Amino acid sequence: MAIISTEAVVLRTVPLRETSMIAFLFTRSHGKVNGVLKGIRKDPRKFRTSLDKLSVNDIVFYQYRNSDIHLVSQCDMKEHFPAIRLDIKRMTAGEYACELLNKIMPVEQKNAGVYTLLLDYCRALGEARDPGRLVHMFQIKLLALSGFRPHIDSCVQCGCAVSGKVKFSTRQGGLVCPRCERKEIGLVPVSSGALASLLYVENHPWDQCLKLSLTPSVRKELKHILNNFLIYHLEKNIKSAKYLE
Ligand SMILES: [Zn+2]
Repeated sequence: MAIISTEAVVLRTVPLRETSMIAFLFTRSHGKVNGVLKGIRKDPRKFRTSLDKLSVNDIVFYQYRNSDIHLVSQCDMKEHFPAIRLDIKRMTAGEYACELLNKIMPVEQKNAGVYTLLLDYCRALGEARDPGRLVHMFQIKLLALSGFRPHIDSCVQCGCAVSGKVKFSTRQGGLVCPRCERKEIGLVPVSSGALASLLYVENHPWDQCLKLSLTPSVRKELKHILNNFLIYHLEKNIKSAKYLE
């Protein structure tokens, strides 16, 4: 058993018996960690946190070898984002990110890039006038950082450079050139604007991406491509996706 101190973002909580709570956390040092906070419902003052979704907490947990649920002995809230909860669109975008992260990331695997992305996303969401735009950026960056990156630099089948009118194959997870597309059904056309936006978000830091404007038609395309791609490759439906704009 190891005792670990780290920082964690709360993704979800569920009550455990009358007195305790299980928290699904994304930690800086161990990625996704599930932990029990014993007695927190009976005596909320036992921990200095309200376990709000997307709040950032300093935690100490006992990592058991033979269990995927560990004991959280300390949890102090250090940053939370009340402005997210005041707005239904921000809340929906936050809910979606938590669900997606929970489904896409393996248990207890450190990913510093994803942790930083999650913090950047929470902070931007707290001030966002247009949370839907942030969701696309989060999806694109999370796919790249978690190893699910769609193949958008060249034809996924023959490797040739693609330009002009291209199509996206959800099944193959990438673009297909006009020569290869004849062999496949169910392809989605991708405009040059949508492709440029995907590549831009993948290759630029978060702060720079925040300045990128997406036209309504590009957003519609990205929503269609990214949501279908995620569902197909994760083999899981993201329930909160239907509430997104
Ligand atoms: Zn090809």
